[in-house]
Amino acid sequence: MTSSSVLVINSGSSSIKYQLVDPETGDAIAKGIVERIGDTMGFIKHEYGDAVTEEEIPVPDHTVGMREVLRIFDTEGPSLAEAHILAVGHRVVQGGRYFDGPALITDEVRNLIEDLCPLAPLHNPAHLKGIDVARELMPDVPHVAVFDTAFFQQLPDKAALYALETETAEKYSVRRYGAHGTSHQFVSQEISKMLGRDDLKQIVLHLGNGASASAVKNGKPIDTSMGLTPLEGLMMGTRTGDIDPAVVFHLQRVAGMSVDEVDTLFNKKSGMKGMTGESDMRSVWGVINNTSDPEASKRARTAMDVYINRLLKYVGSYAAELGGLDVITFTAGIGENDDDVRRELAEALAPFGVKIDVEANKGRVKEPRIVSAPDSAVTLVVYPTNEELAIARQALTFA
Ligand code: AMP
Repeated sequence: MTSSSVLVINSGSSSIKYQLVDPETGDAIAKGIVERIGDTMGFIKHEYGDAVTEEEIPVPDHTVGMREVLRIFDTEGPSLAEAHILAVGHRVVQGGRYFDGPALITDEVRNLIEDLCPLAPLHNPAHLKGIDVARELMPDVPHVAVFDTAFFQQLPDKAALYALETETAEKYSVRRYGAHGTSHQFVSQEISKMLGRDDLKQIVLHLGNGASASAVKNGKPIDTSMGLTPLEGLMMGTRTGDIDPAVVFHLQRVAGMSVDEVDTLFNKKSGMKGMTGESDMRSVWGVINNTSDPEASKRARTAMDVYINRLLKYVGSYAAELGGLDVITFTAGIGENDDDVRRELAEALAPFGVKIDVEANKGRVKEPRIVSAPDSAVTLVVYPTNEELAIARQALTFA
């Protein structure tokens, strides 16, 4: 048993994910998820060492959910009393203009997170449920909010502002907040350490089911692809990414769709899922490689071309904004595991001197690694993100 730990909580609308982190080694001591909160029957999965415990239990609300988390630590281990929890770190998606770093959760901070609910109507209310219950059940440790948007509060106005009429933009807080900031900050800092330079011009590609790109110069973000919400930017598992806003007007006028219907279409039914029927990249490659259905294969290949082309456009524009480019880092589920996506992007960048090392790029390795050839004009790196560790480290600053 470790001498101290941080409990990291990510409370969603119907789930609570948790991880007990050893902040020194970065290891997950234990982790789990409570799912289907509010349904007739809920579910909890807890992993500790080699043991995996799964239980179906009624979880009518987040209070019961958090109690179940504490209960399963008691019954399945490790004992939270012996884990010496120094802080609880809560992931919060939207920190708006209020937060440019982690914040100790006082009543005032809690209320500011509540104020920001209109900017993140699906996420912030769900985070608050987890925060309120966790503060009540664990009153003796500092609770710290770590915001997905905080890193990008440093964006220069030229990247953060939309060309929208100023009065409306200000009145309704319409600007680009970014997302996945904890990951972009963590990965870009780790890359600086790995390459031994703090003057890097970096692009970080966080390619998971949600996907975002950032441009980081000398450790500071200068642009990122997500905007007011995580819909903007790259093509994603179920999200359109960038799309002409007039498509909204068009679908309302021509297809008679409501705003909520367009919202669901853009966020949940588009991207890879909308173009191929599959949101999981492994399944998309499965469709592409399935010779028994050439029509579906061709459509999926076209979707992949859209995906790669969008990446290429962001890399090109960010290289221009950065005034050069030293390193591109791939992270998250697809970035870390999909060697074909990395190779196809690198090949498209070949006219700019980018050279991938095909052997180094192959397969899945848990360790960070350089996958470009020694004479490549840009270093290509695969670096596993670890948002829980990043949250734990930030939470510790208040312990
Ligand atoms: P994340 O949101 O970071 O968990 O990433 C989820 C995405 O990673 C899904 O599209 C998965 O298909 C993708 N992914 C995970 N493992 C692999 C793999 N071995 N090859 C390709 N994609 C993968």
